[in-house]
Amino acid sequence: MSGSRPLARRIIGVETEYGITCAPTADGPPPMNADHAARELFDPVVQRSRSSNVFTRGGARLYLDVGSHPEFATAECDRLEDVLAQDRAGELVMADLAEQANARLAATGVPGRIHLLKNNRDAEGNGFGCHENYLVRRRGDFWNDARTLIPHLVTRQILVGAGHIAAAGDTRRAADGLRAYVFSQRADQMWDAVSSATTRARPLINTRDEPHADAERYRRMHVIVGDSNIAQGSTLLKVAAMDLLLDYLEHGGELGDLALADPMRAIRDTCHDMSGGVLLERSDGRTITPLEVQAEHLGRLRDHVAQGVEVTALHEAALDLWERGLQALRLQQPELVDKELDWAVKHRLLTRYCQRHDTDLTDPRVSRLALAYHDVSPGEGLRQRLEGAGLLRRFVDEATCRRAVDTPPATTRARLRGAVVARAEDLRRDVSVDWVGVRLDDGVCSPVTLSDPFCAVDERIDALLESMGRSTTDPPIGV
Ligand code: ATP
Ligand code: MG
Ligand code: MG
Repeated sequence: MSGSRPLARRIIGVETEYGITCAPTADGPPPMNADHAARELFDPVVQRSRSSNVFTRGGARLYLDVGSHPEFATAECDRLEDVLAQDRAGELVMADLAEQANARLAATGVPGRIHLLKNNRDAEGNGFGCHENYLVRRRGDFWNDARTLIPHLVTRQILVGAGHIAAAGDTRRAADGLRAYVFSQRADQMWDAVSSATTRARPLINTRDEPHADAERYRRMHVIVGDSNIAQGSTLLKVAAMDLLLDYLEHGGELGDLALADPMRAIRDTCHDMSGGVLLERSDGRTITPLEVQAEHLGRLRDHVAQGVEVTALHEAALDLWERGLQALRLQQPELVDKELDWAVKHRLLTRYCQRHDTDLTDPRVSRLALAYHDVSPGEGLRQRLEGAGLLRRFVDEATCRRAVDTPPATTRARLRGAVVARAEDLRRDVSVDWVGVRLDDGVCSPVTLSDPFCAVDERIDALLESMGRSTTDPPIGV
């Protein structure tokens, strides 16, 4: 197309907090609580690094904050393939730690198995999150952009929600007294549209100004609302949609006309209506349904792309999935997306089980099946079985995801960080690392600040690696 331009590069990272439990393997109570299980899980990490907050050879951050939710924050990615591979790498890292911990428990006669769950709610109903991070150019109307994205963030759960059996105490469960299947685990936990606090106020977008990059040029859009996804299709659609919407806004696109009167009420109403057709009140006094909000966003993006933006094959795949996801709801035919979008994959799994066993969603066996969908261990989790049976579609193959555990994205500064971490691990040298820099703890070489996340080659890092000495595994980074 003449006059077209490639979609602007953007740094994207996904942080996932995991739920953890230790299930008894013999009669009796769980042998340890979640805090204890999390400490057990991180034991090898602490042994190796004297810290429960580390960066990996793959450029990611693996850590245990206060509380008991192990977290994996992916390295900075500027390709959708890398986001998917890195996100899956996080599951593999967690599964590996769980396997090691379970072997230790078995060896010491502790009657329990640790499970790691990529979901957003524990048995007591406490929530934990999955955050997305998008780099945006610093300009005057960031706040405006953040606000105009709210209708999208409120309603995107009809496509990328993970699906959830609403708790028995939920006042909006189906009128017949059965538990209802709803779109999202997260919607009922959000309290504020835009705010700088993440825990107390639970905003959809966190506006804390911490760009992890040159603050003169960039900001980081920190999206707090969103379910942790198992299906790669859901993750793909979630991040590709935001990537395209931000590009649209950065090039003069408008979404402000779709503002909702009461976003926090709308997010709950959207969650609990599986038709996608609940009426939401707009700021201008009219009404709109979640389906209409999403169709409008998709239409504007299709026009934006048609006006000369070259997108990747995965962006195209996401737009196609978006369209089919809306159609599945309009026609009430989840089978249109039941291999690609979590809510539909899980819905199919649970309804098939209910039909086979002549039961319903209140059955504890069904709740256990729903949990197994989110379990990341290869033995107990359902991912491998579903993928093997052709019931869960992959967009990036497993070998690539496995490589991402130790191999950072090649096109961002994560490449530099990963090289330093790898060399330090190989040579048993102590380094201090964060998102924007690396430093050798012995002070022999000056610290290196990596303020440009797009920069994957840096002579100062070559020099730092050189000063650390050669390891047998690494080629020079600058080549
Ligand atoms: P916390 O979760 O402890 O509140 P945080 O929000 O800074 O801190 P981290 O868990 O450290 O989050 O993860 C940061 C995420 O942001 C990572 O996934 C990383 O890849 C991504 N990221 C890093 N730099 C940038 C950037 N400049 N723009 C967008 N995303 C970034
Ligand atoms: Mg985090
Ligand atoms: Mg965060």
